[in-house]
Amino acid sequence: MSILVVGSVAFDSIKSLSGSVEKELGGAATYFGLSASYFTDVKVVAVVGEDFGPEQEAVFKKRNIDLKGLQRSSGKTFHWGGEYGENLNEAKTNFTHLNVFESFKPELPAEYRQTPYLFLANIDPRLQAEVRRQMNGAKLVGGDTMNYWITGHRENLLQTLKVIDVLLINDTEAKMLGGESNLPRAAKRVLAMGPKALVIKHGEYGATIFFREGAFGIGRHPFRAPTLPLDEVKDPTGAGDSFAGGFMGYLASQNAINRETLKRAMFYGGVMGSFAVERFGTRRLQELTRDEIDERFQIFRELTHLE
Ligand code: AMP
Repeated sequence: MSILVVGSVAFDSIKSLSGSVEKELGGAATYFGLSASYFTDVKVVAVVGEDFGPEQEAVFKKRNIDLKGLQRSSGKTFHWGGEYGENLNEAKTNFTHLNVFESFKPELPAEYRQTPYLFLANIDPRLQAEVRRQMNGAKLVGGDTMNYWITGHRENLLQTLKVIDVLLINDTEAKMLGGESNLPRAAKRVLAMGPKALVIKHGEYGATIFFREGAFGIGRHPFRAPTLPLDEVKDPTGAGDSFAGGFMGYLASQNAINRETLKRAMFYGGVMGSFAVERFGTRRLQELTRDEIDERFQIFRELTHLE
């Protein structure tokens, strides 16, 4: 089953304690798409400017990602600058040049509208809702958001949350959205806003999925998946989107949503996030093989297995 992602395709300028890169291909839809492409067919809806050339396009083409939904506008591609210190779970934004992203109006090619799996990456919740509306037949809708929308555009976000099945956010965002500093209580409040399940990402410590009572016909007990303790994290950018790509990509590949597939999807999410941070930008995600992914999946199993 194929998957459609709408979100940012960007150039990122990133500094971390391991070095720096300038105008490296990034963006939430890029990380998500590359990650999900190891599990299923991916279509990207996004906007880029005139500085997005054959070199960038080739990265998507190599992974067989469908770019018919990629709009090209006059002007420059979205450019984000960020920096990490010792705390790799927190990015400091140096600049956000929206450029062509500022007037982004997602337009779905007619043939895209029947795509069964949809991921609404971190964009204006009004745009997320608009895409969701055009995709009425979607079987599973995942979504992301960030502090900016939670604090400044809450009403719009609350409307969008009603039409998202699985929301994937980090601890800080979950506490902020739920208005509650205790995580399980925050999760309960977020689930009351609409999503059937909430995946809370704990950065280098893994992720937990919480379920709304009765959702997907499974028990409501939460489930936690690990991440791999790595010797060196070069660049945490895109870890969350790569997690989401592995999570949704695996579910789409199985086309069955139950406790077992959701648990495995959490593991595949962690696996893809752990690959993403090993090199700057999307470099590691561009050159993976399915064998490497499954090998690491086994390591994750070992990490948590109890006889
Ligand atoms: P993550 O580290 O998973 O939260 O995602 C990082 C990616 O999000 C980077 O590649 C950025 O280009 C992109 N990004 C940063 N700020 C924004 C924003 N305001 N809207 C959309 N995408 C963004």
